[in-house]
Amino acid sequence: MLELAQGVWHLAGTPANAINVYVLDDVLIDAGTALDHGRIARQLSGVTIRAHALTHADFDHYGSSHRLCEELEIPLWCGAADVQAVEAGKMVGKGGLMVPAAKAHRVDRALAEGNEVAGFTVLSTPGHSPGHASYWRESDRVLVCGDVMWGQNPFILSGGIREPFPMLSPDPRLNRESARRLAALEPALVCFGHGPPLRDTERFVAAVSRLPS
Ligand SMILES: [Zn+2]
Repeated sequence: MLELAQGVWHLAGTPANAINVYVLDDVLIDAGTALDHGRIARQLSGVTIRAHALTHADFDHYGSSHRLCEELEIPLWCGAADVQAVEAGKMVGKGGLMVPAAKAHRVDRALAEGNEVAGFTVLSTPGHSPGHASYWRESDRVLVCGDVMWGQNPFILSGGIREPFPMLSPDPRLNRESARRLAALEPALVCFGHGPPLRDTERFVAAVSRLPS
């Protein structure tokens, strides 16, 4: 794991930055796909983890959550509007259609706007999923933004900062509103769900400003 800021750790992956998993203090944020279990478990060995929180209920963000929560005996937390999907092992697609995503797991805490997680404030940032949560630490302006914006196209592992493909968001317009809200914070460090960590506030703000309304 690489420490990006105080108490903010980025787990290594292959390819690097393709599917991101973070540790904030003692909270695991996201858990990749089912295939990411091994690399996550290895890197968490010897690390104290007390809870697991999600940015959102997609197959590539909670794919290993069930296994890791069982093995580490830790509670699972996610945005309130994503609880139903996680507990059904599903994700919300176009038109609100629920499609299979990962192994179902009971959610122990439904996160809401303003809650505190590992010294970060939960921001409700819906659009890419109904209960998408971002994590914001005002003191050093660190933002974990999940898939509100992508740091790169996760399918070709290149390209610039962009919104997720609109076809992959149940409500792309709402997601853009969430993105504008995050850009207005002018984060000093952005930790994406996909793509390398970004320390260039202007690039993030500019990418969001180019989004269609
Ligand atoms: Zn994703």
